[in-house]
Amino acid sequence: MVSENLDHIEERICAACERAGRDRRSVTLICVTKTKPLEMLQEAYEKGQRDFGENKVQEICRKKPELEPDIRWHMIGHLQRNKVRQLMGQTVMIHSVDSLRLAETISAEAEKAGLVMPVLIEVNAAQEESKFGVSIEETEELVRAISALRGVHIEGLMTIAPYTDDPESNRGYFARLRELAVDIGQKCIDNVSMGVLSMGMTGDFEVAIEEGATHIRVGTGIFGERIYT
Ligand SMILES: *Cc1c(COP(=O)(O)O)cnc(C)c1O
Repeated sequence: MVSENLDHIEERICAACERAGRDRRSVTLICVTKTKPLEMLQEAYEKGQRDFGENKVQEICRKKPELEPDIRWHMIGHLQRNKVRQLMGQTVMIHSVDSLRLAETISAEAEKAGLVMPVLIEVNAAQEESKFGVSIEETEELVRAISALRGVHIEGLMTIAPYTDDPESNRGYFARLRELAVDIGQKCIDNVSMGVLSMGMTGDFEVAIEEGATHIRVGTGIFGERIYT
């Protein structure tokens, strides 16, 4: 099932890239593997997938040693400061930085571990009460504050758009995130790149690609519905 689903998602990614006049290689598919068993992850790996996303530190730490070492693990979920230390050396990017305090903790732990952690700023583009992330208006200020930290490097922005049956209704949020990244990128802030736009999930990744996503995070479309116990 995973294999067929991946073929179908790949076709849709290619079609969206074609519509947008983009190179397929400009979009990274992150397979969101939270709650899913190792066998399914292995199946995705055997289909050539190398970027996996999890939203819990414990789950990355548990699964990573069981699978091939060339998998790139992305931390995409809300991160508590007391979990940051465990994450060092386990993830290639933290997508969900939304406060200076969290960034300071990541930076301090990264420096202790002798590395620089790539991070994205999570933006609550639709200003949903239930979601983490900073507002569009607060983003530049937070980027500037975090840019002073030596243990992190800002690579771009991430957003989780509203859950919807109509992906078109999220197009404006994706476009706004891209505009914000372009705006901030033009300010040439030291230690800040705006090359990564992590946006689009199972329900709306095609629209996100059309609006410039460089990283899409797809779970259900590959692995099926999640069952939380
Ligand atoms: C679970 C999750 C996804 C994947 O969602 P699907 O709708 O299953 O594709 C993407 N991004 C984040 C941050 C998630 O927590």
